[in-house]
Amino acid sequence: MRKKVLPKNIIAKRVAEARRNCKPALTQDALSGKLARLGIQLDRAAIAKIENNLRRVLDYELKALADALGVNVNWLLGDEKKVKDPTSQLRSATRRAKSDVANKLVSMFLHELSRRISRGWRIKVDSEEYEELVRTRFNNRCPYCSRELANRTSVIEHLDGLNRYRTGLHVPGNVLVACRDCNIEKRRDDSLRSLSLAASGWESFLSHDCTRCADTCLTCGYWSRVWGNAVERRERLKENLERIRSFRHEFPDFEDLLPSLTQRLPGLLTKLYSDCQTFAETEIRSLLERFEEGHIVQP
Ligand SMILES: [Zn+2]
Ligand SMILES: [Zn+2]
Repeated sequence: MRKKVLPKNIIAKRVAEARRNCKPALTQDALSGKLARLGIQLDRAAIAKIENNLRRVLDYELKALADALGVNVNWLLGDEKKVKDPTSQLRSATRRAKSDVANKLVSMFLHELSRRISRGWRIKVDSEEYEELVRTRFNNRCPYCSRELANRTSVIEHLDGLNRYRTGLHVPGNVLVACRDCNIEKRRDDSLRSLSLAASGWESFLSHDCTRCADTCLTCGYWSRVWGNAVERRERLKENLERIRSFRHEFPDFEDLLPSLTQRLPGLLTKLYSDCQTFAETEIRSLLERFEEGHIVQP
């Protein structure tokens, strides 16, 4: 008699279903890629095993699967109710599209401002010399997680992010090379209007030491996967915070500017952002009206 294999998890069907329901549908490989960007290593074979009930799922994998698939954890666990109705998904997608345009404009403004501000500075942010300096200063490791950049995908990273809340600049002292995982994880802090753990986005990112947030905090979860030992985690986060601070002190041109920027830019950028949103809305509406009235003449 064949021995009956007991199911190893209760999310198998829902993972496959959610993957197919993504627009466009996700392959197991693509889902694996999305999970990797969330810091979770599950290859295609592991996902296939989960979907076939042949592999157990750890709690942080469950959380990441829900995030990557855009569904609620409870729904993955078999709760019948779908959490988002289609119209609310459409509404949030429309809101996102508009804010993408506004964010792009803010970032373009900050890049142009950076170019003007740093014109006369001795070292150029896009020069080989600067990249070399940054890589040497951090031993070719990610400044946040200390993992070697040689083994990971590295990206250009702005300590103070280039958005309306963080008002960062693309200038020496604010630009680093980091690993892509940290770059993605840090966006959560960067996108908050106000921060509770520290004054700036990057300091806040390095302050999630699992002692001050709720158990569900994703950033604390990330750091506990990087450093499993709580004592080591706290020490390393503190060390890296200090190392980045002292790196910043090497760019007095930039540091001198910061107080006036942090005072003046948020107001200006918030206005730019909301003007852009209004502009997009009114222009699209008026174009649609003209189109519907037949006023758009074929060339
Ligand atoms: Zn990193
Ligand atoms: Zn946290």
